[in-house]
Amino acid sequence: RAFGLESIHATRALTGWRHVYSGKVREVYESETDADALLVVASNRVSAFDHILEPEIPGKGELLTKLSRWWFDQLEVPNHLREPEGWDAELPAEISARSMRVAKLEMFPVECVVRGYLTGSGLKEYEATGTVCGVPLPEGLRDGDQLPEPIFTPAYKAPQGEHDENISFERVVELIGADAAAALRDLSLQIFAVASQRAAERGVILADTKFEFGVDPATGQITLADEVLTSDSSRYWDASLYSNLELPFAERLSSFDKQIVRNWLRENWDGEGTPPELPAEIVERTVARYQELLERLAS
Ligand code: ATP
Ligand code: MG
Repeated sequence: RAFGLESIHATRALTGWRHVYSGKVREVYESETDADALLVVASNRVSAFDHILEPEIPGKGELLTKLSRWWFDQLEVPNHLREPEGWDAELPAEISARSMRVAKLEMFPVECVVRGYLTGSGLKEYEATGTVCGVPLPEGLRDGDQLPEPIFTPAYKAPQGEHDENISFERVVELIGADAAAALRDLSLQIFAVASQRAAERGVILADTKFEFGVDPATGQITLADEVLTSDSSRYWDASLYSNLELPFAERLSSFDKQIVRNWLRENWDGEGTPPELPAEIVERTVARYQELLERLAS
């Protein structure tokens, strides 16, 4: 990060909570009364290629929070939500609509990426090496192709300010031990299978996604954390457009996610210095697609 986030994102004083961390998208608070609890507040910021962009996307934080909550509820996996009756009574409604009260976990420094389709950084790595995170793939795959089966392609969650780095499964074993590595891989693939099935029933392709896990010190249990299966952490495509081979390629992969922002930025910025401001049309399209995904999946 080029500059201190704390200085550019005014954080709100929230009764009962102490601000401890500004991520690119979320603000994290510690409870003043319960050492085991965190408050994670999703902002309306959008980041791409490790830059926070201007302007914000109104409504984004609330939409992502709703989608995460919906998925946590669908998945039969221990998750980090800890929200006793009345937990948000002291919070302004506008904040609680984009907040989650969670268990403070010992996080694994691994981003658990699962890919069912080949695109983005996975495609880049495949084109260079024929593998993604050490997983060999068939020859001749092209952008947007479905993989023979979903693959686990972890990344090392670099310390603040550094780029996350794709790593092999063996490297995950070195980092967190064989048992935890296998558990994270198996859980990630299981959740991905359930979620892509659920999405397919609504005419949506889950192309890839990223999970984060931690251990709950209270129970010792591996627990699903962070945001889950949102339009920020996943690629979602419209199944009927994807399978219409008469459409131009870009339209087939028309997405319900942050790719809208990445694509615009790639066409309008050389990657040097400060990124240009997003035009109103891109802001509107992004929020409309995030909204549409939530409606498709969760209604
Ligand atoms: P970046 O700006 O690169 O995204 P980030 O991922 O650290 O950095 P955010 O995603 O905006 O920033 O902030 C959320 C942070 O909270 C993440 O670091 C995430 O790993 C962490 N986190 C999520 N859930 C929990 C939890 N239950 N316990 C502890 N930390 C958590
Ligand atoms: Mg994050």
